[in-house]
Amino acid sequence: MDLLLPAKYPFLAEASEAITQNSVDIGDLFGGSIYEEARARGLARVEEALLHSEVSYSPLVKDYDRLNDILSYPYARVLVSVINDRFLTKRYALAESVRLNRLLGDETPATVLHIAGALGVNSTFQDNKLKMHFPDYLTFSTRIKSQDWKLVNSELFNGYVFLANEKFGRLLQNALQDRIEEELPLSVPDDVKASVSEDVKRIGASLSEIKNRFNPQMTGELQEGDLPPCMRTLLANVQNAVNLPHAGRFALVSFLHAIGMTTEGMMALFSRSPDFNESMTLYQVKHITGESTGGDGYTPPECGTMRTNGICYNPDSLCAREWMTHPLKYYRAKTRSGNKKE
Ligand code: SF4
Repeated sequence: MDLLLPAKYPFLAEASEAITQNSVDIGDLFGGSIYEEARARGLARVEEALLHSEVSYSPLVKDYDRLNDILSYPYARVLVSVINDRFLTKRYALAESVRLNRLLGDETPATVLHIAGALGVNSTFQDNKLKMHFPDYLTFSTRIKSQDWKLVNSELFNGYVFLANEKFGRLLQNALQDRIEEELPLSVPDDVKASVSEDVKRIGASLSEIKNRFNPQMTGELQEGDLPPCMRTLLANVQNAVNLPHAGRFALVSFLHAIGMTTEGMMALFSRSPDFNESMTLYQVKHITGESTGGDGYTPPECGTMRTNGICYNPDSLCAREWMTHPLKYYRAKTRSGNKKE
């Protein structure tokens, strides 16, 4: 059996077949020296997820290395399950799925379809294009809030949405992310927990460090319930690891700056996102707030601009008032009425 495919995509049924065909006693994965390399790679998978939000892939030539890579996947899942922390699980699921998306770029349509099928995504290849059944398209695309993902802006024929390879891969990324989040935590027997305790301790320490780097109390002044619906949606997207369009990130940071949130407070908020990249986020925040340029920073966009940019999400009855022209007006109106009640 060729181990290349399951080494690249260890969530496929072929990975279990490879483990069986190579007579691996799964108990040996958690102790002894035979699968020490698989354990090291499994630990690295989780550490890479925590530190870089992406699990790496190095092309492997020897079957021995491929088998270790296949085995590293269940080992990593056991580590994440034993720790059973929501942030870690989401971050790990994201990192494995980002890896999948990167690898798919080099695959033939037949392989992409095979993987889609394994993830339960109904799709075909026709007229030299990948197509996805529209209910699956909706399931995996609705969380991506930019206009070009809207069904009305897509090419739909006979219930299938035609997709460029990159977009197809992005949706399979979401499908794998959902699947991993659904599957974890696994139920892990006590003797296995004891065997992996050193690696669990190590990841637990990195996890605490990442979580404590930003003091969540810095966000204490923000009344999330007073935010206009557009900003609430943008914030929820950040915290659910949904990539914001550039205009969305700009609007959110400039808005939070305008209502008095500090750079540290914003970093604390963004740090809750599983794909948080500290240096890049800090650079963007400092640029928008003017901290790096010595100015006052940018003014947040008004409602008309937000609408033009497709980021006026879920406007409510307050948004419908004639005088409502700016998200800041919404926030002030809300906080004023809140104060009056007190
Ligand atoms: S109308 Fe203005 S405040 Fe309301 S959701 Fe749209 S952009 Fe935000």
